[in-house]
Amino acid sequence: MPRSLLASVFALRCPSCREGKLFKTDNPYQLNKLASMYKNCPNCGQRYEPEPGFFYGAMYVSYAVTVALFVAVLVLMNIFYSPGIWEIVIVLSGVLLVLAPPVFRLSRSIWAHMFIKRAKKND
Ligand SMILES: [Zn+2]
Repeated sequence: MPRSLLASVFALRCPSCREGKLFKTDNPYQLNKLASMYKNCPNCGQRYEPEPGFFYGAMYVSYAVTVALFVAVLVLMNIFYSPGIWEIVIVLSGVLLVLAPPVFRLSRSIWAHMFIKRAKKND
């Protein structure tokens, strides 16, 4: 069964066939290989970088994802207690530090899925 769009985005798969991996390593915390992507999809050969600097645009996605994450954490904190400003700064800094690598990869995946078309299939 083919992956749904959302499953493909979160599994960091090829936007075209939704099977091939975008990144060479599965662990985003292996920081020296964080950004190492395949040039083409290992499954269908789809080119991942249609133009030079294509993935710079993923920074905008990263910004939006990070803001959404911060709002979610803030709402959660406020449900359980009334945090002071320094608590908020420290907690959000921690969240940013810990989640930056997966957010980086997710943002590239979202960006790729926005601009690389799904291959036509008869399913
Ligand atoms: Zn593919």
